[in-house]
Amino acid sequence: MADSLHARYMAASDAWRAHRKGCTPCRTGRHCEAGEPLHERFVRLQDAYLNHLRS
Ligand SMILES: [Zn+2]
Repeated sequence: MADSLHARYMAASDAWRAHRKGCTPCRTGRHCEAGEPLHERFVRLQDAYLNHLRS
């Protein structure tokens, strides 16, 4: 369970970072239409993962 959450967190992180690398608006904090859901997913999974570590 923890491994799967971590795997999803890493995948979301990779997807977001890969997108941001090639996307100037996303790099400067103005998320584009494609980047917004990637960023949301990354933030959500990061929160879930960090909460999991704390609990
Ligand atoms: Zn973008």
